[in-house]
Amino acid sequence: MSTDDFQLLFEELQTAFVNPESLSTDALDLHAFSQSKYPQFTGAPHAIVVHVNSTEDVVKVVRLASKYRVPVVPYTAVACVECICRSLETISGSFCRAAHQLVQFADVPLEEDSHAICEAGVVWNKLNDLLKSKGIPLFFPLDPGIGATIGGMISQGCSGTNAVRYGTARGELVLNVTAVLPSGEVIKTRNIARKCAAGFDLTKLFIGAEGTLGIITEATIRLMPRLPTSVAVVSFPDVQSATQAVTEALNHGAAIRKRCIRSIVSAIVELLIILSPVLVTECAELVDDLYIRAVKNYGTYPMKWVEADTVLFKFQGSETVRADTSRLVENVSNKYGGYGYMHITKEDEVDLLWSDRKNALFGLLQMYPGSKGFITDVCVPVSKLPDLIVATKHELASRNLVSPLGGHVGDGNFHCFIMYRNEEELALVREVVDAMIQKAIALDGTCTGEHGVGLGKKEYLVRELGEGTVSLMKAIKATIDPLNLFNPGKLYPD
Ligand SMILES: Cc1cc2nc3c(=O)[nH]c(=O)nc-3n(C[C@H](O)[C@H](O)[C@H](O)COP(=O)(O)OP(=O)(O)OC[C@H]3O[C@@H](n4cnc5c(N)ncnc54)[C@H](O)[C@@H]3O)c2cc1C
Repeated sequence: MSTDDFQLLFEELQTAFVNPESLSTDALDLHAFSQSKYPQFTGAPHAIVVHVNSTEDVVKVVRLASKYRVPVVPYTAVACVECICRSLETISGSFCRAAHQLVQFADVPLEEDSHAICEAGVVWNKLNDLLKSKGIPLFFPLDPGIGATIGGMISQGCSGTNAVRYGTARGELVLNVTAVLPSGEVIKTRNIARKCAAGFDLTKLFIGAEGTLGIITEATIRLMPRLPTSVAVVSFPDVQSATQAVTEALNHGAAIRKRCIRSIVSAIVELLIILSPVLVTECAELVDDLYIRAVKNYGTYPMKWVEADTVLFKFQGSETVRADTSRLVENVSNKYGGYGYMHITKEDEVDLLWSDRKNALFGLLQMYPGSKGFITDVCVPVSKLPDLIVATKHELASRNLVSPLGGHVGDGNFHCFIMYRNEEELALVREVVDAMIQKAIALDGTCTGEHGVGLGKKEYLVRELGEGTVSLMKAIKATIDPLNLFNPGKLYPD
């Protein structure tokens, strides 16, 4: 863009946004809004940051961006790990209102229809706090990184620990979205009836599109009953024998139970099989000994953690149901070599313990001063998890790299947080991540179960999805955004 054009664009933006605080060309802002909070990729500053408050504001930005051919990068919480806002001549549209301003409760008979209409900047955990503080017995079950927003979560196709029971953003939790298209047109994908068979599902077009097809300004999301919850923690002998047992557990579940293989994952799989008809298990999370050390050192819940491969289960339901489930889980865990079983039932303790598990990565950074953590995730059919974990451990060890291993094991979703101190180590980390992704794809899995493609994984899409599928994705992008103005450079392979 020429300096003259930039000046004209800025003047038109000033006319459109009379509040001077809406616009910024301050160097610090331009830099800050182009960086992820998790700097595994380096961003380049934007040209202008615009703080938007409404769909109409977004339309104004998009129309001017289109007129001056300037890319637009939506910015919400930037808790994504595979993308940053990387382009020199971009406008960043930042969503910047507080959660309570962004959720419409008043005109919705919440407890009858159990949905909420949220603007894009609503932070999921603040929404859940808000529902609780209002005495509304519902919650939104998608639980990615703390601070992530509805707009970003939908755009990333996120999920989290609760996916075992409630599914991911790609399920039925997002009823509709309101999106501003690159043309400046505003569309709402559908009404809010629980079911809709009117045409194909355009809401899904925006889920996982990573802001490349439209800027989501509002969404209607389904809420679920907040049930009494407890957490069980149990340690196991090791992860590797566990992951080997997953294969057999899934392929020959009954036989495995008879042969009584001592493993953590076979225990989980058996428990999920046993418990699924009564649906009382919300999550089954695997964390390794390193992860537990971080929770132990930096967590807030006073518990005697054992530094071992550990599974955390969440149970939901009445006291009796949870007590019965817990007894069952304890028995099955014992059968597979589980030890130190604990069942935590007090609500405030459950909350503390779960947030310790969520925040453990920050503890890890403190354990390795001067290190950064490279976060990545892949997902495979649960039966293939053993191969993947064994191979990844080998890749890490052969390069002397350290990473806690764990993830949402009930879904076959596996995470690493690989520590590195310098560019040399970062290069080694990238080798491990590459090997992990290649292995996951070879195992019929995906390069990302929940963190998205962004910049970091687009080179793997053709291998994973096939040339034809990727071409169709590119054709949809070219139709909706012919000038390639929305989040250019992300998602689609070059
Ligand atoms: C410690 C940690 C733990 C995590 N755990 C999980 C987990 O368990 N599960 C999981 O799924 N993810 C997890 N994540 C990843 C992250 O939380 C998710 O990707 C989340 O969905 C990002 O939301 P956000 O609001 O930060 O989006 P952002 O990072 O701001 O944006 C994500 C992408 O969407 C685009 N975008 C943002 N807003 C809009 C909009 N309104 N319209 C269109 N496009 C938009 C952005 O340009 C960007 O490309 C974790 C991350 C961290 C750091």
